[in-house]
Amino acid sequence: MGDLIKLTKGLTKRYLLPCNAGYLLVEGGSESEFSLFLKELKEQGIDPGEIKYLFLSYHHEDHAGFAAALRELSDCRIIVHQEAMEPLQTGEHFIPGEGGIVNRRVILYGYYLFLTKKVRLKLKPLEIMESDLPVKGDDNELLRTLGVPGKILATPGHSPDSISLLLDDGSCFCGDLAMNGPAWLGTRNCCIFISDIEQYYKSWQKIIDEGARTIYPAHGQPFSYRELERNMHAFSEEDLIKKRPGRGKI
Ligand SMILES: [Zn+2]
Repeated sequence: MGDLIKLTKGLTKRYLLPCNAGYLLVEGGSESEFSLFLKELKEQGIDPGEIKYLFLSYHHEDHAGFAAALRELSDCRIIVHQEAMEPLQTGEHFIPGEGGIVNRRVILYGYYLFLTKKVRLKLKPLEIMESDLPVKGDDNELLRTLGVPGKILATPGHSPDSISLLLDDGSCFCGDLAMNGPAWLGTRNCCIFISDIEQYYKSWQKIIDEGARTIYPAHGQPFSYRELERNMHAFSEEDLIKKRPGRGKI
């Protein structure tokens, strides 16, 4: 396989993997980052039309927000968990059940992200096409048929529809299953919000067991899987600062 192309100037880190017919884009980004994305793409000498597939690790705006805009410039097919299909089409974020943020420092950071419109709670609805490629969970075939040597793993915890892309060389693009935020945030490789912390750490163990060696989070720089081993279970259910009861949607 050719080289990994990094488009990492934005809040959401994006990567291009060469595939049979062009490129597979790992992760999109918020609508507000679309122009930055196009600029980075141009710097690499790549035309949006060369993007044949868009892998979304889940449905939130900072990942899927510009998917609809990208589709106006390319015929890319979306690879996503099937449970993400509905929120993508309605544009509504969905977080079922319990969940919370990992510490109080995150509140400040969250305000900053909202005020600068880097994170929003709604996304531009995306029209799902017949040719899109929803996955039900683990899938060891789809990527290979597209010329990408790797597999898709269901990795819930941040959200129920979270999936990761694991290449055979151990590169793991895990969305918000892990984060490499600024040290002062103290999230110990957790994302700022977790919907199910037990599942979250189970998913960490799952990607390690499946061979993940370099973790490429959607936010922050890549890091070794050993960091996940070190920080496993750093937080428990009791540590989470819960959202207000009765609010299923955020
Ligand atoms: Zn995110």
